[in-house]
Amino acid sequence: MAELIYDQNGRLLFTEEMRREYTILIPQMLPIHFKFIEQIMQEAGYNIVLMTSTDPEIVNQGLQSVHNDTCYPALLVIGQMMNELNSGKYDLHKTALMITQTGGGCRASNYIHLLRKALKKRGLDYIPVISFNLAGMEKNPGFKFTPKMIFKLLGAVVYGDLLMLLSNQIRPYEVHPGDTDALLEHWISTLLDRKMSIRHMRRTLDEITESFVQIPVHRTEKVKVGVVGEIYIKFAPLGNNNLEKFLAQQDCEVCVPGLLDFIIFMGDHHMVDVKKFHIKFMKGFVSLLMKKLFVNFQNKLIDTVKKYPQLRAPSDFETIKSLTNGYLSDGNMMGEGWLLTGEMLELIHSGIDNIICTQPFGCLPNHIVGKGMIRVIRKQHPTANIVAIDYDPGATKTNQENRIKLMLSVAREKIEQQETAQATAQKQQQMVNVK
Ligand code: SF4
Repeated sequence: MAELIYDQNGRLLFTEEMRREYTILIPQMLPIHFKFIEQIMQEAGYNIVLMTSTDPEIVNQGLQSVHNDTCYPALLVIGQMMNELNSGKYDLHKTALMITQTGGGCRASNYIHLLRKALKKRGLDYIPVISFNLAGMEKNPGFKFTPKMIFKLLGAVVYGDLLMLLSNQIRPYEVHPGDTDALLEHWISTLLDRKMSIRHMRRTLDEITESFVQIPVHRTEKVKVGVVGEIYIKFAPLGNNNLEKFLAQQDCEVCVPGLLDFIIFMGDHHMVDVKKFHIKFMKGFVSLLMKKLFVNFQNKLIDTVKKYPQLRAPSDFETIKSLTNGYLSDGNMMGEGWLLTGEMLELIHSGIDNIICTQPFGCLPNHIVGKGMIRVIRKQHPTANIVAIDYDPGATKTNQENRIKLMLSVAREKIEQQETAQATAQKQQQMVNVK
């Protein structure tokens, strides 16, 4: 058994010895991106297990582990970890947990402390918890980011966003069911073996896009639904009760804004801090460089998708930001901040006015920039068909799905009206031609 070593603040460290012997459990958030992250970590020598369980017991475990006014994503992530530790699959004296820490003002920076408290309550405080962050918080001798890992993680975000975007746009129309998922699996299992220079990545983005547009499709009019909201609830099937799958069953095309926007938004934060509040000058400078790097990759992704008129390319970060002018200040940075409002506006501007705004229980920041902005957006864009869906331990899936079905029926009615109007216009044109 590895020796337990603590830092001067009493935090249990993840040591070099543990690195060789321990299994590290990480929670799932984005199904495509996190498969890459799992591979990158394994390649770097960590024995990583990605937790994908959506067992209903997770919510109970969460409720028993944290205070019931804790925001729902924290409750789920901690509940999922406790459930996994209870499963009997792991030697608990050779298991560690890994969790992200954003470093922002929101609770996402503090999940790690709630998790340690929950472990202590159960007498499991010999299990080390590793903070996954690039901001230099909570260092551990047994876990370090190498430049190679960082570059591959960058690739994981860019490739993950592109694969998510392409599969969402092609899958609903494929002639042979399963083609898109087979291609997706192919790329997920082979992409990280490729060279990761900027030049190679650009070529790979082209190759991926070209392969997806080769899938035979049959284009029909489908309801297009945008999904926005708090980052965990928007992306994680555990958080949103498998929302994307439900929408696919309802014969919709789903559009989920990518992770790149959120990462660029985090970099933009510190620059706004410098500009508006005259603080964090050093962080502002580093963030400026990081932002430029990610913006560069986002532009490459957008340019690649734009080559294919049958695909819808996302808008770039600055365009999304400019859309929020007159709605709210860019000083709104807690949670998803102004970006959440911006994503709703971007969807509307790109012709997707059916939007689900996912709202977790206990999340004040995103209630303000999400639910709180819907009335103003509707006032400016009367055709916007937005529904806010609450996710909390007591909300039933049936209730959430019924509310979404109501929104979809409005969307379908609109499509029918448009089709009728088009048919009438065509008939009138034919009559004019005959005369
Ligand atoms: S954004 Fe909301 S849900 Fe996410 S950590 Fe912050 S308070 Fe919790």
